[in-house]
Amino acid sequence: MDFATRAIHAGQDADPTTGATIVPIYATSTYTQAAVGEHKGFDYSRVANPTRSALETQLAALEEAEHCVAFASGLGAETAIAGLLSAGDHVVVSDDTYGGTYRLFTRVLERFGIASTFVDMTDAEAVRAAIVPATKMLWIETPTNPMLRIIDIAAMASLAAPDRLVVVDNTFCTPYFQSPLALGADIVIHSATKYIGGHSDAIGGAAMTNDGAIAENLRFLAKTLGAVLSPFEAFLISRGAKTLAVRMREHERNAHAVATFLSERDDVSEVLYPGLPSHPQYELARAQMSGSGGIVSVRLRGPESRALEFAKRTRLFSLAESLGGVESLINHPGRMTHGSIPKDERERRGITDGLLRLSVGIESARDLIADLRQALDATRTAAGVLLAGDPPNPSRIPTTQSAGAPTA
Ligand SMILES: *Cc1c(COP(=O)(O)O)cnc(C)c1O
Repeated sequence: MDFATRAIHAGQDADPTTGATIVPIYATSTYTQAAVGEHKGFDYSRVANPTRSALETQLAALEEAEHCVAFASGLGAETAIAGLLSAGDHVVVSDDTYGGTYRLFTRVLERFGIASTFVDMTDAEAVRAAIVPATKMLWIETPTNPMLRIIDIAAMASLAAPDRLVVVDNTFCTPYFQSPLALGADIVIHSATKYIGGHSDAIGGAAMTNDGAIAENLRFLAKTLGAVLSPFEAFLISRGAKTLAVRMREHERNAHAVATFLSERDDVSEVLYPGLPSHPQYELARAQMSGSGGIVSVRLRGPESRALEFAKRTRLFSLAESLGGVESLINHPGRMTHGSIPKDERERRGITDGLLRLSVGIESARDLIADLRQALDATRTAAGVLLAGDPPNPSRIPTTQSAGAPTA
């Protein structure tokens, strides 16, 4: 069956007791047993719940994986995967990764004796050099966040083999655009909070694998660590995932239009989007992904105050953490999602003060571009941007403003 069909039908059989067409929210913590140990496959909802099981079947089918374990959040899934490791183990992590992943490795796992080295995974030699005998896992996020660089999953898998696990965070592409397991990854993880749920109304995560032993271990870790998905959230995420194919096509179409518009502006210094031929890894992106996704990063010309003012002035693009919902969002990585990364480390990765990340929603592309245009035009002078050809205007004083404390 094709992707769009699997999204709607996998795991979505009519309810066996009532015939309900839609999988109900089984709001129950426990299950009545006919005799000791005699039950219908469910005994306690931290271990398994029918609504969550239906979602796991649906998400496994989308990723074309044999197994899926759902978690209370993307980071819940990451924590369980970290539970596959032991003190003394080492992980090589892509250096331009989700801020929460960076925090998990550096602030928590480090204390438990699990060391990590962050490297630029677009550089195979650097990865080879970072691998030591204790290395048990390679942790990849591609496209990277927020720089949207592309990591060659198959190349990393061949570097890691045979005895190191390759984990790929597939949140940005979703299985609609990228299939890491087919490229040699052992485990795929998702923040289902983002595109899979798709409506910014639920927090959830998932891990998929074709390896039965890993799956069994992850189920053990899920019930032992306890970051399991509630049936209410499972219902919302399942409902969202049914339209994943339709949404991803629209996200991509709009992101293309927005990236093209921004790249034609003289008050923008750089547009980062894997679907633009100007992207340094355009060919790799085309080979590895079947589409370019809905995230566009942009570097505005002018001081940081301009980027902050711009983010305040967009109306359809809400200034918010997160991504992947139907509505467009704008985020200042340096002060928001990546605020937990030290400033010098951030800048080394290209997360400069003028960088903004757009999660392009599925509104009308024309309206989205008009919104970006008015915010660019308004801040072009308000922030005192001096462009080649613009007459200097000494009356314009750069605005300063305080951004909220990092909350990611
Ligand atoms: C949001 C996100 C996470 C964390 O997921 P939560 O559901 O917020 O815990 C991990 N990886 C990526 C790429 C993300 O965008």
